[in-house]
Amino acid sequence: MGPLIGCSIAFFVIFSLSIVIWTFRDIRSRTQDFLTQILATVLVAVFNIGGLFIYMILRPRQTLAEIYERQLEEESLLAEMTERQTCTNCHARIEGDFQVCPSCGQKLKRPCPKCERLLELRWTFCPYCATNLTGAPSMQNMPGVPSMPGSGMQMGGPVTGNRF
Ligand SMILES: [Zn+2]
Ligand SMILES: [Zn+2]
Repeated sequence: MGPLIGCSIAFFVIFSLSIVIWTFRDIRSRTQDFLTQILATVLVAVFNIGGLFIYMILRPRQTLAEIYERQLEEESLLAEMTERQTCTNCHARIEGDFQVCPSCGQKLKRPCPKCERLLELRWTFCPYCATNLTGAPSMQNMPGVPSMPGSGMQMGGPVTGNRF
């Protein structure tokens, strides 16, 4: 009977040790909280297979790797959603190179008159070929200068004289 009991004890010790090691590894993959790691390991070390059952019930459901993976997924989904452009008028999905919305005809972009690349409607200069898109060819946008050339001409003496 001696060797059999010895074998059983050896098995029990090794088994207990392995479930403690397994628990420690498992809890480390599920939480970074040191206290929880110690508590789970002590629980299994003290109560053995019973402790393992309790641990299996109470342990965090997701491993840290799974949580990290899910976070990455959510972030990429969010990035995709913000990247996706929609029509300001009808919220239909549009591509970056659309000139008008395909569903409602809302004007989205205009082609540059010189280089024909697509530009935002609010832009006043073409960033690709430096064309001024406001239509004034060489006049600089100074606030003091009157926009109508005729009004400047009227200030001169000869013009008023010729009127009569
Ligand atoms: Zn639209
Ligand atoms: Zn251009």
